[in-house]
Amino acid sequence: MPKLNENYQNVKDSYLFAEIARRVKVYEETHPDKADQIIRLGIGDVTLPLTKSVIEALHEAVDSQAVSETFMGYGPEQGYEFARKAIADYYARNGIEVDPAAIFISDGAKSDTGNITELFSNDNVVLVPDPVYPVYVDTNTMDGKKIIYMNGTEENDFLPMPDDKVKADIIYLCSPNNPTGASYNKEQLKAWVDYALKNDSVILYDSAYEAFITDQDLPRSIYAIEGAKECAIEFCSLSKTAGFTGTRFSYTVVPTELVFTASNGATLSLHDMWNRRQSTKFNGTPYIIQYAAARVFTEEGMAECQQNIEYYRENARMIAETLKKKNIWFTGGVNSPYIWFKCPKEMESWEFFDYLLENAQIVGTPGAGFGENGKNYFRLTSFGKHEKTAEAMKRFDELF
Ligand SMILES: *Cc1c(COP(=O)(O)O)cnc(C)c1O
Repeated sequence: MPKLNENYQNVKDSYLFAEIARRVKVYEETHPDKADQIIRLGIGDVTLPLTKSVIEALHEAVDSQAVSETFMGYGPEQGYEFARKAIADYYARNGIEVDPAAIFISDGAKSDTGNITELFSNDNVVLVPDPVYPVYVDTNTMDGKKIIYMNGTEENDFLPMPDDKVKADIIYLCSPNNPTGASYNKEQLKAWVDYALKNDSVILYDSAYEAFITDQDLPRSIYAIEGAKECAIEFCSLSKTAGFTGTRFSYTVVPTELVFTASNGATLSLHDMWNRRQSTKFNGTPYIIQYAAARVFTEEGMAECQQNIEYYRENARMIAETLKKKNIWFTGGVNSPYIWFKCPKEMESWEFFDYLLENAQIVGTPGAGFGENGKNYFRLTSFGKHEKTAEAMKRFDELF
């Protein structure tokens, strides 16, 4: 009989979105007259289609595969040079120097933030924020790694800071954050980099929402902080930047400076280990997708993406203005597609979910789904349509 990875018994069922769908279905069945008025602001997926230049590039790449001179077979597991160079150029335009050789192209920040755990032994202490993007917790639970939490609360604006009394080997940070929409500034990120350098820890930095940053002073990469290349891996994705949630393209930066001493005294490079891991277990992102993704990182390509992001920003503004008017405490809404607010009337988040659905036919995401500290908070997203978001905010305004 095979011995199973029994750590899977400790992974919680992904209950959140299934439970939301169940409650919405019950409501639709019991209120058929209201069913078509439901507005969904809970989604964490983009809704605008791919941009014009991405579509053009996809067509070009597809056609190139019909000709033997330009046909592509197996590609380099780390990604094509042209795509890694396009990403490095994009970093450079934001004032950050990243060596194309440090960039690994992949099919998702979810896959990479999950798979990276393989490089670390199971007796590490992993520090994650609460509330948190559940992937960090579930993947480390599957490994059987010890997870400790740091509190995101109203007092720290949901931006937990390092505590010298806590010793962590691996630290997950996500900024701008999902679910809270909060973003670390340079001083705060520097405190994290200093902590990691002092404690010989590694930071796993998820910057999936960097393209939503408008505030020029906010760091769009952890490498905006001196010393970060000695302690941090960065994960980013075109999912939210360019609407690639179905198309699939992400990138992970593992600097060659990231070296640690093994128990036998050898020096191990995380870059080399990740390269070995990917070459063995990953076949690379499709050439066609890399070709189109490279177009996203050009100035014209990114300008088109920013137009789409601007559409979402307008929704975020509408939501933020409504909350401000109602004196409801919130984070996000700027520099992020998410708005995270305190449930009115001291309600708990599932109670508020039902209340909002019953009384305004708005569907959002209960904070409890992201951790203990989310139990009195609620997440709305700006990925809906303007008209729907505006209508939802009108109802919200009338309700409170
Ligand atoms: C959406 C999202 C990503 C992107 O994941 P992909 O696997 O690249 O689609 C990464 N991190 C967070 C926190 C996200 O919300």
